Amino acid sequence: MNTYDVIVIGGGPSGLMAAIAAGEQKCKVLLIEKKEKLGRKLLISGGGRCNVTNRLPIDEIIKHIPGNGRFLYSAFAEFNNYDIIRFFENLGVKLKEEDHGRMFPISNNAKSVVDALIGQLKKFGVEIKTNTPVKDVLFEQDQVVGVMLNDGKDIKAKTVVIAVGGKSVPQTGSTGDGYAWAKKAGHTVTDLYPLKFR
Ligand SMILES: Cc1cc2nc3c(=O)[nH]c(=O)nc-3n(C[C@H](O)[C@H](O)[C@H](O)COP(=O)(O)OP(=O)(O)OC[C@H]3O[C@@H](n4cnc5c(N)ncnc54)[C@H](O)[C@@H]3O)c2cc1C
Repeated sequence: MNTYDVIVIGGGPSGLMAAIAAGEQKCKVLLIEKKEKLGRKLLISGGGRCNVTNRLPIDEIIKHIPGNGRFLYSAFAEFNNYDIIRFFENLGVKLKEEDHGRMFPISNNAKSVVDALIGQLKKFGVEIKTNTPVKDVLFEQDQVVGVMLNDGKDIKAKTVVIAVGGKSVPQTGSTGDGYAWAKKAGHTVTDLYPLKFR
């Protein structure tokens, strides 16, 4: 049976970036997406233009995160808003700044962002399965060993990345499937509620 170094569940921005990063490290990667296309929510983001990131200083961004955004400092130490700008510009997706530091592709089209990410998946040889809902994440002796698909087939992997999004706009594919899997892996899941942005 085929065993992967990494299975990424979910072809939204998180899963696409995770699959690219693992592929870049020469891992054997399988990206599994429930819907027929990758990046469906990304395509409708920013009114179809995709507000890719914000150019303001990190402290300013963290100040505007609802609740206590300070937990983001460690993640931003690895990869931050300026890295995102460089990442897309290196892929030929030129960005422009609008009000309050908001960055959009000059194409005004979220598809240019999705296409650039798909191009990177191909470049790094990431295998892609669309129209393939994952039913469960499999564990043996507290170790992840792979996933089970809706059709009952198991696929083995040393590492599984759960990137299935939250519960908003479920018609894009994110229906909250990951919460139960995260709990199964020992994570705590907080109460869910919609955020209101100013
Ligand atoms: C209308 C709207 C506008 C937005 N605009 C912006 C914006 O301009 N800028 C911004 O930064 N953010 C924006 N956001 C937020 C942004 O879209 C989300 O934060 C982002 O999409 C989350 O990415 P994700 O990869 O975590 O999840 P998602 O994008 O939700 O992707 C999860 C993927 O996992 C797949 N999946 C789910 N369950 C399974 C399963 N069981 N098996 C296989 N695959 C599965 C889904 O089909 C989906 O493709 C917007 C959101 C909305 C709704």
